[in-house]
Amino acid sequence: MKVTIAGCGVVGATIAYELSQVPEFEITVVEAQLSPIQADLRECPSSTGAALGVLMGAISQKEKGRNLRMRLFGIQYYNQLVPELEALTGRSIPFNRQGILMLKFPTDDLTVWHRLVEVRQQQDLPLELWDREQLKSEFPFLEQASAAIYSPSDRQINPVALTQALIEGAKVRGVRFEFGAKVLEMQGNQVQTSKGLIDSDYLVIAAGIGSKEISAIDIRPVLGQAIHLKLPKSLGNHLPVITGDDVHLVPLGNAEYWVGATVEFPTEVGEVLPPDRAMFDAVMKRAIEFCPSLEAGEVMRSWFGLRPRPQGRPAPVIEAIQPNVLLASGHYRNGVLLAPATANEVKKMILN
Ligand SMILES: Cc1cc2nc3c(=O)[nH]c(=O)nc-3n(C[C@H](O)[C@H](O)[C@H](O)COP(=O)(O)OP(=O)(O)OC[C@H]3O[C@@H](n4cnc5c(N)ncnc54)[C@H](O)[C@@H]3O)c2cc1C
Repeated sequence: MKVTIAGCGVVGATIAYELSQVPEFEITVVEAQLSPIQADLRECPSSTGAALGVLMGAISQKEKGRNLRMRLFGIQYYNQLVPELEALTGRSIPFNRQGILMLKFPTDDLTVWHRLVEVRQQQDLPLELWDREQLKSEFPFLEQASAAIYSPSDRQINPVALTQALIEGAKVRGVRFEFGAKVLEMQGNQVQTSKGLIDSDYLVIAAGIGSKEISAIDIRPVLGQAIHLKLPKSLGNHLPVITGDDVHLVPLGNAEYWVGATVEFPTEVGEVLPPDRAMFDAVMKRAIEFCPSLEAGEVMRSWFGLRPRPQGRPAPVIEAIQPNVLLASGHYRNGVLLAPATANEVKKMILN
């Protein structure tokens, strides 16, 4: 069976890698950009190239249901995938196994978190509620927080290193990649691209915000800005991701950190506005309030990306839009986390 995948962000690359385990599939990935993840995001904003790779499973507020199952599937998948893919490709994939620490502030109501800790206990997922003393003794560099939730089973992964390794791994397993070609449409058993036709039994559209053009499903871009800082002195070794009021501090090692991200909606007709300086400053201000050491950071890089958000329906959208065309897109703020469960679902749909 010939399968063509449109788009090679983290979602398309994970689908390609997962499908490559089925010997009957002959897979081609078609990616509009010339290189898998564009280095210059300002020229060419993709979502995966901008993502922070924070993987919130047990610490998400979802108590049960499909979205939680997909999240937990993703974390378990990466726990196994990372060593497997590193061995297969010889590439290293930065993967933070120290968990996620979510800060809570004096005005926050902790009732919902007390309940979540109990729910997670029943689900066999560790989740701890820390008071101010415990927080201060573990991470003395943090200010303002009066409590925290610590989720040791959650993770963070470098989305670009992951995607590049998935591409390499899929190549080793026989997947063909065409960069610099755009998928236009499916016509019978052929996928029409800007560089010609590809015989295909299936087309899987995983083109992020580009999916709208091919599928006519309303997927809108939500801009996110983030920054890479280097501090004069490291905050410590083996740190978890620290998050407060939806601002993430991602430790990278070597006293370097990512901080982000803004959430900037398009206009009513879906038009992207330029990155908003004030929103970025607000994110930085909040980060410095709870982690004052960040103020001395030297800026290594700043960037933005466009998250694909399905309009008026929950993210992501994984469904057949024609008998032989599947849409796997609209992952909005959690595409890195949800890519494995998406790939698994797509594989099942094609096999069925
Ligand atoms: C600042 C920021 C922070 C984020 N942080 C996190 C996080 O911590 N955790 C998390 O899980 N998620 C995070 N996300 C969200 C995550 O980045 C996305 O959900 C995910 O990357 C979507 O992946 P994708 O493969 O669907 O889209 P993309 O990465 O955008 O890939 C789609 C690809 O399709 C290509 N394409 C488009 N049209 C066509 C066409 N017609 N033919 C061929 N190719 C085409 C594009 O060139 C692109 O390379 C963040 C996003 C941003 C912007």
